[in-house]
Amino acid sequence: MTQKALSSNRLAQKIVLCVEDEAPIRDMLRFSLERENYIVQDAENAQQMSQSISQQRPDLILMDWMLPDSSGPQLIKQLRKDSYTRDIPIIMLTAKSDEQEMIKGLDSGADDYISKPVSLKSLNARIKALLRRTEAFSDDELLSYANISLNLASQTLSINNEQIPIAATELKLLKFFMLYPERVFSRSQLLDHVWGQNNFIDERTVDVHILRLRKLLKPNAADHLIKTVRGSGYKLAN
Ligand code: CA
Repeated sequence: MTQKALSSNRLAQKIVLCVEDEAPIRDMLRFSLERENYIVQDAENAQQMSQSISQQRPDLILMDWMLPDSSGPQLIKQLRKDSYTRDIPIIMLTAKSDEQEMIKGLDSGADDYISKPVSLKSLNARIKALLRRTEAFSDDELLSYANISLNLASQTLSINNEQIPIAATELKLLKFFMLYPERVFSRSQLLDHVWGQNNFIDERTVDVHILRLRKLLKPNAADHLIKTVRGSGYKLAN
């Protein structure tokens, strides 16, 4: 329920990012995916992809093999190294039907591939299957960082194995930090990810909840884990 819970404010609509440099294919994918009720983001190249992901973490990525400034396998390797993007399911789109190339794609960390011309019916089926798989997989996850543990199934927090009561918003906030440790998030990114895209909440709300979270962690000497990064935002770090 990791990503599912985070996106519950988006009315459970999943975000699919299409990284594809050919406009007609991008348009076709957008049309088809929007019809299936996905929120579609797109990027023509590696740079746009990075921007899009830092603004909003997609639930799934469709990645073209050949891009003007990079290659699909190269980008996937990069995404797999970053804790923020490591677990995003990726389907590689490829014109190559060469088996060696397919293997190379999967080796780089893609979860699946589909060759062009893309059959939309088959693509939709694969997207659904992959999203189901990733959700099922993360359902009873236990997140741990330093001496903090979050049990996502029971929605409980433990510090040094002692259970600590925590309010819903603080839990969501801490969970988000624990999913992506050591990564800095701005207040507006935290609002989007924890409170949802369509919030009209003041950014200072984030500070209030950070304060509450630190207060909660303090008796167990874990408040230092929530770090203020001057001029940028907050991160979880030891
Ligand atoms: Ca291409």
